[in-house]
Amino acid sequence: MLADLHTHSTASDGALEPGELIDRALERGITHLAITDHDTVAAYSADLPRDLLHVIPGIELSTVWRKIGVHIVGLNIDLENTELAGGVLQQQEARRRRAETIAKRLMKTGIDDPLPAVTELAGGSTIGRPHFAKHLVDIGHVRDLRQAYKKYLGDGKTGDVRQHWASLPDVVGWIRAAGGVAVLAHPAHYGQTMTKLRELLTDFHDAGGRAIEVVSGRQDATTTRRLAGLATEFSLLASCGSDFHRPAGHGVDLGCFPPLPSECRPVWDDWF
Ligand code: MN
Ligand code: MN
Ligand code: MN
Repeated sequence: MLADLHTHSTASDGALEPGELIDRALERGITHLAITDHDTVAAYSADLPRDLLHVIPGIELSTVWRKIGVHIVGLNIDLENTELAGGVLQQQEARRRRAETIAKRLMKTGIDDPLPAVTELAGGSTIGRPHFAKHLVDIGHVRDLRQAYKKYLGDGKTGDVRQHWASLPDVVGWIRAAGGVAVLAHPAHYGQTMTKLRELLTDFHDAGGRAIEVVSGRQDATTTRRLAGLATEFSLLASCGSDFHRPAGHGVDLGCFPPLPSECRPVWDDWF
């Protein structure tokens, strides 16, 4: 068994269509795959070949905890659940409003309304800063993506607009309403001290969170041990995933991560 329970498709910011993602997963020997796009389950509207491997319905929801952007993965969710669907809509409206604000701010610097073009670039998926960056390159306003972030979209620049995400308890609540397990995504990526991480885990657990990604991508053994320890301490199940976005690039490939430590109780224990 090789489970990759955190991956992205073109439904959010991944490079592969859902079907292509499954093909690649099969090539790489994945037996259990969750497509966990940012704030959308649109990947699952595609006709996926579910007989070749186990597809576990998933999502990655954005939230804010003490001004820190935190991601919660929902696994084994009922895709038809209306409470989750309402939550997803709310998140998408938040993104839309943010896109409009970024567009307005860019227009104030003398750029023509970028919203129609970025909407086209996003192609039905959610609009994010990468789309604005690409547009600024396309119209020749900046040399390359790097410059787009450096001048307009990076932290502290005019296009750096705060998102108004739903709260941690709300996001966890939607996942639970849909019968899923709420998983704290990539816990080591929030730049937190152990004290802060414990506080986050306390709030997450109180909200109904039941698992953490003990393994996220190609992480070092010390981090894995530390997270496995926290999972035990907070009685949380353990998940693992690559957070795959694209075949070539900074991220890791599907299934490319160390195994879960044996002391961990895997999140899929109750499923199969
Ligand atoms: Mn992403
Ligand atoms: Mn994430
Ligand atoms: Mn992700």
